[in-house]
Order: sequence, then C-alpha cells, then structure tokens
Amino acid sequence: MTKSGAQTSSLDQLHLQHHYADLGPAFGTPTPPAPLQNPHQIHVNQQVMALIGLDTKDVEHPDWPLYTTGAKLFAGSEPTAMKYTGHQFGGYNPELGDGRALLLGEAEHAGKRWDLHLKGAGKTPYSRFGDGRAVLRSTIREYLAGEALTALRIRSTRALSIAGSNEPVAREKMETGAALIRVARTHIRFGHFEYLFYTRQLDAQKRLVEFVCEQFIPDVKDQPIQQQAEALLRFTVQRSAELAAGWQSVGFAHGVLNTDNMSIIGDTFDFGPYGFLDDYEPGFICNHSDHTGRYAFDAQPGVVLWNLNALAHAFSSLLDTEVLKDCLGEFQPLLIDYYAGLMRAKLGLEMEDDGDQQLCADLLELLEHGRVDYSLFFRALSHYAGERPAGTLEALVSPSQHEALGNWLQRYDQRLQKETRSVQERSRAMLATNPKFVLRNYLAQKVIEAAEAGDYQPLSVFFDLLQAPFDEHPGFEEWAAAPTDAGKHLPISCSS
Ligand code: AMP
Ligand code: MG
Repeated sequence: MTKSGAQTSSLDQLHLQHHYADLGPAFGTPTPPAPLQNPHQIHVNQQVMALIGLDTKDVEHPDWPLYTTGAKLFAGSEPTAMKYTGHQFGGYNPELGDGRALLLGEAEHAGKRWDLHLKGAGKTPYSRFGDGRAVLRSTIREYLAGEALTALRIRSTRALSIAGSNEPVAREKMETGAALIRVARTHIRFGHFEYLFYTRQLDAQKRLVEFVCEQFIPDVKDQPIQQQAEALLRFTVQRSAELAAGWQSVGFAHGVLNTDNMSIIGDTFDFGPYGFLDDYEPGFICNHSDHTGRYAFDAQPGVVLWNLNALAHAFSSLLDTEVLKDCLGEFQPLLIDYYAGLMRAKLGLEMEDDGDQQLCADLLELLEHGRVDYSLFFRALSHYAGERPAGTLEALVSPSQHEALGNWLQRYDQRLQKETRSVQERSRAMLATNPKFVLRNYLAQKVIEAAEAGDYQPLSVFFDLLQAPFDEHPGFEEWAAAPTDAGKHLPISCSS
C-alpha cells in the first residue's frame, strides 16, 4: 500500500530519467513548478498512458491530479525550463524559452523514450512578462489537435492529461488556469540550435547535435560531429517536408510557424490559433494577428522551408555552405513527392500516372471556386462508384460549378480505368484515408464553451471521435457536419 492508501500502481513505479536536464546549464534552468490550486482532473488520454507505461487505473490514484499539475513530482523528475530562441514572424527573438512549461523528465517504455512536459506550470526564468499559466481554452485546443493529427497519421506532439482549476487567469477576459502534460519523443526545437549558435556556445551546440542523433539517428552516433550534423539536418529536412505535405493534404493550418514552434524531428508542435479547413480556401489565415498572411494555409510549405533555412544558418558553425544548400535542396522534391502520394491516396489512386497532379490541381481549383467543404467532399468521393448524376457530390458544390464537376468526374472515371482495385476495395481504402470527423473550429468552440461551464462530456465525446475519425460512429452525425456560415472563420484568440 502507498502512503495515501491506494494499491501500489504503475504510477508509483513510473521513474523518469533526466537526460536533457543532465546536459547542463547551457540548455535550460532547473525550475520547480508552481502548481495550480485545487486542481481537478478534466480528461485523461488512455492511449498516451499506455505509450508511457501507465495503467488506466492510475487515474483513480488519489494523487493523480497532483501529478498532472506538478504539485507532486513523478519519481526521478528534475523539472527544467528549456532555453531556446527563434525567428518569430521573420524576426529573431533572443528572449524565448519555456516561459510557462517545464520538462519534467523522460519516461522510457517499450524501447521508446518520451518527454513529459508540463504546460501551465508557473513562471520560469524565461517568462518575461507572462504569468506562466495556460488557460482551459487553449489547453483543450492543444489536447484535441494532437489526437486529431495523430489519428490522421501526421506526426504531432500529444498530451497525457488536462487538469483544470478555479485559479483566475487574465487574458482578453478572465479565464481559469489549466495544466496539460505534453508528451513527445523530444521537445527540442529549431530554436534550441539557433540559441546556441547566436550566443556562440558552439561546444554546447555540438553536444545538442550528438544528443538528438543518439536518440533518432543512432547509425551516425560514432561518426565525426560534421557527419552527425549533416545527417541531422537532412533528417529534419526530410521530416519537415513530410510534415508540411501531411498538413496540406488534410487541410491543417498551424497558424504560428515560428522557428521556436518547429520540432527538430518534424512533429506538429505548439498549438495556438490553428485551424482545419472547412471550405477549401487556399489562402485561409487562421491566426487573426497574421495580417500579411505569412502563415496562411497555402504559405506553409514555403514557410517551413524558410524555417529550415534559419536552422541551416544555425548549422553554419558546423557545415560548409555547399553542404547546407544541398541539404535544403532536398526539401522541395520530397515535399512534392509526399504530397502527390497523399493526394493520390485521397483520390483512391494506387498507381502513379503522369496526369495525376493535374487531375488533383483541377479538383482543388473546382473546390475553391465552388466553396466546397474540403473534408466532406473527399469523404463523399470515397463512396462514389461512377453513378450519374453524382447527387451526393453535387449537393456539396455550388450549382454554378456542377458542370465543371461533371467534367472533372468524367476525367476521374477515365483515370480510374487504369486502376486494378475493385470499386469496393478502393472505397474501403479511401474511407480509411478521408476522415468523417474533423477538428473543426466551431466544434472545438462548442467543446470549450461546455467545458468552461463545467461540462466535460462534449470534450470526451469529440476526443473519442477524433481518435477514430475514419469510423462511421452512427448517431454522432452532428459532429461530422460542416459549419453554417456563422460558424466559419470564428475569430480565434491568439492568447493562450
Ligand atoms: P508561444 O506563443 O506559446 O509559442 O510562446 C512564445 C514564447 O512566449 C515562449 O517563450 C513561451 O514560453 C512564452 N509564453 C507564452 N505564454 C506565456 C505565459 N503565459 N507566461 C510566460 N511565458 C509565456
Ligand atoms: Mg511556442
């Protein structure tokens, strides 16, 4: 029995490592959490519990809310505020770092190491004017996004839990503080390397290269530092290209693609005013403070490359310009290749054909002009079996585009002739690629408003649907619907 009277649980056995904290003072500052008062559990992610070796019964442990808010530390934890800098909206900011979050340590389970990072943990040496807190609204948004993207097979950080409190936190209006434990293979960002480069801590920078390679590119770990640095840069370029292609294929706009929000392993990282497309609108800007559209949906691949350039510049202490250029040159072909593959899958095309790119581009143009809901269209296309009139699809497209749709479908029908799968097989594959349930802003808003009023049921329902977005879930149709015009373009606060 534990002191608190519960059975010994895997929670008592979880023993965190602190490899990152051990790197030393160049990399961050040991900082104790300032836990929220009277925390209560709001939601727990059972999939993530399993990932880090916890048992679902641990939630019943009387101390669980204390662990998930930092009031009690997991054994072995050495909470550390990580130091990084970064380029924000194109300008270098040397003042960044974990201002309201702490790396608690690393959990090792089933051969994988997972960082546990407590967000909303109170002030740190890098808080500047911030209060060190996170609010319930933004915590829910982060929690849902990690699951939605993961289920769509796009790399993302996830979260173990959300805890709430009645502690008031001032944003545009008064809100309440919440805490989230973010879980990721690493929390090292492009900005970690930029910080060490711009402050000329070049030995520490080499150590960080080795640290990331040890975990993710073990094949190069005994090679000279230049080779490790080159392998790491190529790895990050490849992962970032894959990531950007994934976002574009599912209609995800991150909203704040600063280099401090870019993970070195290509996870979607740091969720702010992100948005999933409703209507297919390439120029969609989800971040209302982004007046120039720097981070618009269709600008993302270019901005990811811009960020990779900033990272490559930070690697100029280790690699020649020619090598840096060569690494960066891999981005575009990889991006095009990944994106083409993902869009072919959305269209149900198994073979590669020269005309596919054009077929896809013409469809997207049609969706844009017809103000068509991106996800609903592809879900409906997954059920298409050559029928005419293509009523379900037409119902999604404005009448002025019906003729264009008919013409496109004719080309699509012809293209499908080259495929060998049966209609049923193709449909099954497309239904496992084109989600029915999408993390639409208006639905996130509904969940947040209920949670702010103390009702966590909608959060729980939506969470489960987003973890299995390809399944039909009969009876939950309202969670699959596109918004009315009023629900499109909801202003999303950037404060979090
Ligand atoms: P973000 O906009 O969340 O990517 O954060 C940018 C920088 O501001 C990071 O250094 C954060 O740690 C810091 N920051 C954001 N919100 C807060 C807050 N409430 N208190 C302290 N620091 C914060
Ligand atoms: Mg950030």
